[in-house]
Amino acid sequence: MPTHSTQALDVTAHVASSIVPAVLDVLGQRWSLALVQALLLQEKTFGQLLLALAIPRSTLAARLKHLLAMRCLEATAHGYRLSAAGQALLPVVSLAQAWNRGAAGQPPAPAPLIHCCGNSLVPALVCKVCAEPILARDIHLDCPGAVPDLSHLPKPLRRARAESSPGQWLGAAEILGDRWTALIVALGFYGVQRYSEIARHLAIAPNILADRLARLCDGGVLLRVAEQQSERPRYRFSEAGLQLFPLIVALIEWGDRWLRPATQAATCMRHLPCGHWLQPQLRCSSCGTAVTLQSLSASSLQAP
Ligand SMILES: [Zn+2]
Ligand SMILES: [Zn+2]
Repeated sequence: MPTHSTQALDVTAHVASSIVPAVLDVLGQRWSLALVQALLLQEKTFGQLLLALAIPRSTLAARLKHLLAMRCLEATAHGYRLSAAGQALLPVVSLAQAWNRGAAGQPPAPAPLIHCCGNSLVPALVCKVCAEPILARDIHLDCPGAVPDLSHLPKPLRRARAESSPGQWLGAAEILGDRWTALIVALGFYGVQRYSEIARHLAIAPNILADRLARLCDGGVLLRVAEQQSERPRYRFSEAGLQLFPLIVALIEWGDRWLRPATQAATCMRHLPCGHWLQPQLRCSSCGTAVTLQSLSASSLQAP
């Protein structure tokens, strides 16, 4: 966990200054990640996107409009392509896709991307300085950044209620697509894992909190741990849940770079193994080199 038992951490200040809610306003819509993924390697027309995503025409139009307003996409003469900000979502999109592949009981995944080394991309988020993988226990939050001033961004779309039902497999898109679910996961990485503490930090209605926690437990992300002398349980990450940490780091990194005004200090994360400020870098697990859009191609094979 990024918290240090020896150092007091003002979690409320961290939550207030967290860029995560702002990133969720951009990406936390169902289909937004899938849309970015579909446009990663090439621009597509509205018709091609309709075919690739198999979603209603009106939903696609609304999501495209939203991502255009958030400056993640650009309209071209023929269709849509990712802007520089959209291309910078590669770590988020590929880590989300990889997390989905690793999760149990998953539905069929889209064909994997191929790295220039010839292997299917298994992305790893590592520290750029020491090249060690980014693990929750190795990160220390030094000080809260400034509360993000996001007045320059268009208003987010209203979000639909979580669409998965209890017991159903939770994919990364479902987790990010529900603001409360995503915030509970992000808070967990700040070390906030007790029911009462989550409720206090998020100011969330008890029935909604109970519903989201049940969903995360059923989905295999959290484990409910009964605590002695307490009626309220603690919620620990499962092994699969811990694997979400690099995805959250990638979200924070992207938000600090592309959403936060340049004049504002970003989230301060220190990588304990090397002691440097954390600069995440996406690498290929097979060959160990950096993953860029130029180093990727589409697989012609459908994933099994
Ligand atoms: Zn390091
Ligand atoms: Zn490679």
